[in-house]
Order: sequence, then C-alpha cells, then structure tokens
Amino acid sequence: MKYGHSEERVIDPGMMPPEAEYGYDLIPEVTDTDEEYAVVTMEIPWDLVKDKVTRVPKHVAFVRDMGFETLKALQQEMPPVDLVLGIGGGSSHDSAKYVAIKKDARLVQVPTIISSDACVTDAVGIRRGGKVTYIGHAVCDRVIVDYSLLRQAPPRLVRYGAGDVLSSHTALCDWKIACEDGQAEFNQDFHDQAREDLKQLYEMRREIRDLTDDGIKTIIELYRDYARIAAQLGNDRCQEGSEHFFAYNVEYITGRTYLHGGLLATGIFVMAYIQDNEHDYVRQFMDDMGVEYNLDNIGLSRDEFFEAMTTLKSFAKEGGYYYSAVDAGDIGAQEAEQLYERLT
Ligand SMILES: [Zn+2]
Repeated sequence: MKYGHSEERVIDPGMMPPEAEYGYDLIPEVTDTDEEYAVVTMEIPWDLVKDKVTRVPKHVAFVRDMGFETLKALQQEMPPVDLVLGIGGGSSHDSAKYVAIKKDARLVQVPTIISSDACVTDAVGIRRGGKVTYIGHAVCDRVIVDYSLLRQAPPRLVRYGAGDVLSSHTALCDWKIACEDGQAEFNQDFHDQAREDLKQLYEMRREIRDLTDDGIKTIIELYRDYARIAAQLGNDRCQEGSEHFFAYNVEYITGRTYLHGGLLATGIFVMAYIQDNEHDYVRQFMDDMGVEYNLDNIGLSRDEFFEAMTTLKSFAKEGGYYYSAVDAGDIGAQEAEQLYERLT
C-alpha cells in the first residue's frame, strides 16, 4: 500500500509516531490541497471547521458509532480519495484510520477535542459484540494540533486527554503484578521511560488544567512517546491495563458510548485503589489537572457500577486482556461499596 497501511495489525520496533504540527488556524492550510480528500467527522466538529476549508472535500462522512458494520458502510459509501482527514475526537480518528486503510489514502488527523490518544495511535479501535478490539494499522502522516480549534471545545473534553497518559500509573503496576505472577516479562528500561513520561505529565499538571499551549502540547507529545514505547516494546503494557479493562467493561455492560478519557479517569481512580497504588496521590494529580472522576460525570448508576466491578475479572479473562491486578485479587461487593462512596 502507498502509505504503509495494513489491514492486519503491525507491531514494528522501527515504527515512528506521526509528526505533530502545532499552531493556530491551521484548517485553511491543511485543506489547501490538490488531493481529492474526504472528511471523517461528526456534526459538532464539522460545524466548527466547515467554513474554514480552502477546497471543499469530495465527501464528508459522519461517524455514528464504532460498530464494525457501521464502519464498513461508511467506507463503502465513500468515493475513492487520496487524502482522509479525521476531524473530531476518538471515534472520528479511529474511523478515519479504517477508511484511510481501505482507500489506501494519506491520513491526517485533526483533533477538536482530546479525549483519547486515537489521533496518534495506528490501530483502529472497533466494537464487536459490544467489546473493544483493535484491528489494522494506519500510518498517520500528520497530527494537526490547532490550539484555536481546541480552545473552542468545552475545556473538560480536552483535559480528559490526560487520561490516556495517566493510565500508565495503573498500567505499570499491573505489569509488575503480572511479572511477579509469571504472566509477563518485565523490561526495566521501558518501565523507566514510561515513569519519566508520567513525571512530565505531573510537572505540567497545572498547564493542562489551564489548557495553555504547552499543556495541550504535552499531552500530544506524551501520546507520541507512548506510541514509540509500545512499538519498541511490542505491547501496550506501559499504557494500557486494568483501568482500560474497567472502561471497556462499563461500555459492555451499559451498551452506551463514552468519552474515553472520562471513563478512564474513573477507571484509574478505581484501579489505583484496588492496587493500593498511591491512590491519594493519583486523586490529587487528577484534581490538579481539573480532570473529573465520578459516577455522575459518566452517568453510571449504582447498580451498573457494582456490576462493572464484580464482573471485571471474568470480563477481562474472557476478553483475553492482559493479566492485571484484576486477576491477582478478588473484587467483590465490599470493594465496590468502598469505591462507590468515594465516587459519589
Ligand atoms: Zn486508551
């Protein structure tokens, strides 16, 4: 394929994260192209940018959900194009990846909110049978980080982006637990690199709260570094652990879609507690960043939360997710009760 995409998942230690371009009012420049291009987006982000495009797109595809059938239909309705622009949040970026692979087109991602690292990662996160799976490998040419665009979003929808970095706090602990139980292989070097990234996030926590240019840039640059670490290490152990499995289980149980970062923040809060892993520090960390973690925020009822907690072990096992603190211990109604009180 022309741009290095693949229908199969690719783990390549030499894989480089996409280049990121930072600035203001970048849409006119990005759409000043001779290539036939399509936009993959949603109504709200498209309304923000549609009057700023230099050349009109050949096709605009609106993402409805991340179900595999929906994605296939979206792709089939689209004419051949040379360039795919994913404009919006995680669903737009993941759908844009899928379409770019299928059309063998150049891929450029433009976040208008940052609720996940989907604008930087290569795999397409889809929902199959209500569960999250990653397919394919899309080579993103550039991530366009337009500060003026991101400042038009409700601030919490950009701050949530920190969730896919802070997830490293609980993921690294899961990795250690898995190694102790003989379920994974440890790598001190990459572990320390991820710790260093977490330290950077901590140093910038108030910039993230205030959404300064440097605060926004830090989130994207750390995504890029975690993408590099994952490629070189050959797995996502440094960034994805039980906090993600909690989030996936909530999606599975409720059948609703969420902002990834919002669900993750609650997952990090929950799992740091279960892991007995600097829970107070993590809570303060999120408070300092202005990242919200509570059940109201994600619209989760008491019953749903209890179900998500007590079925987490079987969910993670059946889903084939990494061995984690969830497997190492038992999470029962008692833990759910303690956490429920802290989250409401
Ligand atoms: Zn994530």
